[in-house]
Amino acid sequence: MFGLIGHLTSLEHAQAVAKELGYPEYADQGLDFWCSAPPQIVDTIKVTSITGQQIEGRYVESCFLPEMLANRRIKAAMRKILNAMAHAQKHSIDITALGGFSSIIFENFNLQQMKQVRNVKLQFERFTTGNTHTAYIICRQVEQASQKLGIELSKATVAVCGATGDIGSAICRWLDARTDVGELLLIARNQERLKELQGELGRGKILGLEEALPLADIVVWVASMPKGVEIDFTCLRQPCLLIDGGYPKNLGTKIQRPGVYVLNGGIVEHSLDIEWRIMQIVNMDVPARQLFACFAESMLLEFEKLYTNFSWGRNQITVEKMEQIGQVSVKHGFRPLLSC
Ligand code: NDP
Repeated sequence: MFGLIGHLTSLEHAQAVAKELGYPEYADQGLDFWCSAPPQIVDTIKVTSITGQQIEGRYVESCFLPEMLANRRIKAAMRKILNAMAHAQKHSIDITALGGFSSIIFENFNLQQMKQVRNVKLQFERFTTGNTHTAYIICRQVEQASQKLGIELSKATVAVCGATGDIGSAICRWLDARTDVGELLLIARNQERLKELQGELGRGKILGLEEALPLADIVVWVASMPKGVEIDFTCLRQPCLLIDGGYPKNLGTKIQRPGVYVLNGGIVEHSLDIEWRIMQIVNMDVPARQLFACFAESMLLEFEKLYTNFSWGRNQITVEKMEQIGQVSVKHGFRPLLSC
């Protein structure tokens, strides 16, 4: 059985969902309440591959909210992730994806040192960040959507916001090794890590966001920001492809400008309907078929009976592993979302 650990995008979102699901007593509660709420399995999932194979899974709501990071509720955030992992393990889930901020919190706060959660000793090989599949899908979105829009990759400037992150660095590696991309712009805050990445790639220009945006034909957004940024979209090139892979979204601005295309990044479409309710709750356009690529990674590992932490640690995703997960993604009927 596979599992997905997820969370909602904001306190407001959590309150609206609670109301919609018929929990009015949760709907009026503030951040303190969500800090103390335990994890819950809220959905049972059935997925059929195009090979005919069927698997079953569970969705674990961790009750983490991004506001916990912004409001210095770090201990609560850490507890949410560890408790959700223990909950998944207690329910005999073989392989569970750590969605959205779950893996970021796990890494940033060294949760691997906290194996014991009450009476459960966490077995980390039962978890995956799902980031290898996410990075692969975003790279395929860059390749396929640019072609659709007539942007020639060999002449294009691609800016990666969040370049030094787990997903961002994997995308840079792929764009360098697998595509003939014209120019790479590397954006993040920590200059030392940017220089390290530049050294590893042997290319790429380090720029601030404001300097990079007017130069880019394609912008890939994979920064771990609890809230989206507002950008001046009048400075963007036309055409310009913006692939927003953040959860919550990195782009706070709703962009409506001719020649500027915003694509939901790191999202896959399955060829067959999935039996679940959860993607409706996170407002996916086609909830029976569209999902986060990191969640799809745990499904793929279950289909292949690869019970291992396929994506683990930070900045260790190789192009070979992206190709490996990409092959099984195609085999089981997933494809990158391409409609803007
Ligand atoms: P990491 O924590 O590994 O990396 C985050 C990157 O963002 C780092 O380069 C960091 O560098 C940079 N960053 C953070 N804040 C800012 C900022 N304000 N301005 C510029 N750069 C910034 O995260 P992941 O790679 O694991 O995840 C990235 C995003 O992808 C997250 O939003 C996550 O929720 C989302 N995600 C989406 C998935 C999907 O299936 N679609 C699956 C998993 C994750 P620095 O700190 O130096 O600025």
